Amino acid sequence: MNKNPFLAFEAKALDENRPNGREPLLGGKLRSKAVWVDESLCIGCTYCSCVATNTFAMEKDNGRARAIRQDGDSSELIQEAIDTCPVNCIEWVRFEELENLRLKLESTPIRPLGLPPLR
Ligand code: SF4
Repeated sequence: MNKNPFLAFEAKALDENRPNGREPLLGGKLRSKAVWVDESLCIGCTYCSCVATNTFAMEKDNGRARAIRQDGDSSELIQEAIDTCPVNCIEWVRFEELENLRLKLESTPIRPLGLPPLR
């Protein structure tokens, strides 16, 4: 068993969010909604990644949470993680929305947490 604590950071989060043929839309077995973190709002408290450990991980460059896969935890556990978020930046979205959300996030300047605010 690999005990490298940084293994989660190496997961290809964005690739997992792309359509893979298992979405309910295509007759697959995944839940009807995908989970999405608005990283521009995340404050890096790590609560979600402590609750739904197979779904959320802290992104290593900016220190913000990211949904690294869509089939890692039950809907109930993911909802519990959503409910712990102090800034309400995790939401259920349609699978078809993920790509647009990802593109929008890529074009949003995100400041790494731990640095002083912009002046
Ligand atoms: S619970 Fe919310 S604020 Fe905290 S790390 Fe997760 S997404 Fe970010």
